[in-house]
Amino acid sequence: MTTLEIKDLHAEVAATDGGEPKKILNGVNLTVKSGETHAIMGPNGSGKSTLSYVIAGHPKYTVTQGTITLDGEDVLEMSVDERARAGLFLAMQYPVEVPGVSMSNFLRTAATAVRGEAPKLRHWVKEVKESMSELEIDAAFADRSVNEGFSGGEKKRHEILQLGLLKPKIAILDETDSGLDVDALRVVSEGVNRYQERENGGILLITHYTRILRYIKPQFVHVFVGGRIVEEGGPELAEELEANGYVRFTSAVGA
Ligand code: ADP
Ligand code: MG
Ligand code: MG
Repeated sequence: MTTLEIKDLHAEVAATDGGEPKKILNGVNLTVKSGETHAIMGPNGSGKSTLSYVIAGHPKYTVTQGTITLDGEDVLEMSVDERARAGLFLAMQYPVEVPGVSMSNFLRTAATAVRGEAPKLRHWVKEVKESMSELEIDAAFADRSVNEGFSGGEKKRHEILQLGLLKPKIAILDETDSGLDVDALRVVSEGVNRYQERENGGILLITHYTRILRYIKPQFVHVFVGGRIVEEGGPELAEELEANGYVRFTSAVGA
């Protein structure tokens, strides 16, 4: 059983023009445990991606207050690699391209880093093949450079491929649904659900839209506005957002 605990988290980004830093997170409190699915839902610009970057250790953002712990260990003291080894996984809203590095090499390197030893090659090849076929990814993709020339949907499938292979304890999925057609959304969502069933992982699903929640069912829904959680509930809260949008929440905080 793993617990990711975020307490009173404040974070800012340095201004590019040398002015005052911009405060983005304003006191986030959130606990995610193994086997739980949490949805963070909020309007554009509310700080959702910043929250995921701060958990992952992106150097652009400075934590000014609060804590993040994984089973009591101080995540903010860990390097990005240490966070991955500790069992945190971040699927980026904008996955990066890595020219010259094939998918299969990239995945094996990542798995080696997380597991602490290189997966046995024959076993690994089989594991990757099976995972690719579950996600309906063409076998030829294994030899292509990471994300280079991949469509939006292909990048998202590869994120979920990584999720299945790296088997993190807690997965943070930022806008995994953006830019996906209905078929890709179903395949990607099934991959997320399989990960949770197999690994009993904890999921923090960050999204602007409600449509992915038809396929991935959160027990906990958090409304995120102005850099913090302003309302919490169960699946019924997502239904309310689908019907009425964020207006009730944004007008309440003047965002
Ligand atoms: P969301 O994911 O909810 O759309 P973001 O976390 O991407 O929100 O952004 C929150 C706010 O912080 C936005 O106003 C955005 O422009 C700003 N912001 C985020 N990252 C940076 C950055 N690196 N430099 C300057 N401003 C940023
Ligand atoms: Mg955004
Ligand atoms: Mg975002």
